[in-house]
Amino acid sequence: MKIKPGKYLFSKIECRDYDILVPFSCRKTGSCCSVYMPRIPYEHLEILAKYLGLPTDEVIADYQLHYGKKLKGQSVRCPFLDNHNLCQIYHHSLRPWVCYLFPFSYDGEAIQSCPAQVEHRHLLDCLVAGEKEYDVYDSSFCPNLDLRPIPEERWLTILKRFQSVPSLPEMAVTFAAFNEPELMREGKAMYRSWEWI
Ligand code: SF4
Ligand code: SF4
Repeated sequence: MKIKPGKYLFSKIECRDYDILVPFSCRKTGSCCSVYMPRIPYEHLEILAKYLGLPTDEVIADYQLHYGKKLKGQSVRCPFLDNHNLCQIYHHSLRPWVCYLFPFSYDGEAIQSCPAQVEHRHLLDCLVAGEKEYDVYDSSFCPNLDLRPIPEERWLTILKRFQSVPSLPEMAVTFAAFNEPELMREGKAMYRSWEWI
């Protein structure tokens, strides 16, 4: 199985003798982009307008209009969110980091409108249950890039904890690739790909 580097955000649970990597899987509901608007500099808006094939003035004016409403406390969707709840600049390198790291850019705060984060928090709670010592870091703050494998005799217990929380099937595949002692070489390679952040 091949995992694409950079595809997933994740949390790292540092237990006493090993680490558990927990991928985050966005449901693409667009809820975050419907209630939050990132700050984007004008020079980036100019580049993004060209990328979208739209007149620069139009993109800047639209953004200013939306941002102005946001500043007044009105509820507005990000102007880059399309009618299918997809981000039009998702694959552009100038998509703001706050978006790229959402919901981890929110300092671990539980965001009930994000179903993926609710599930992720639940998974973390289940996975740390029974661990005597642990620290949890997320994708936006992973100071220690060394990854200690889960011992084989612990793997089934940890997998059962993971499976006790409903999650998307691809999450289970990624979780196994990250953590299963026999497979984790790939997950480790992908984890290391985050060193450039
Ligand atoms: S730039 Fe894209 S990801 Fe960020 S809030 Fe707007 S639509 Fe969402
Ligand atoms: S609210 Fe959560 S699940 Fe929905 S698009 Fe945003 S990050 Fe993804």
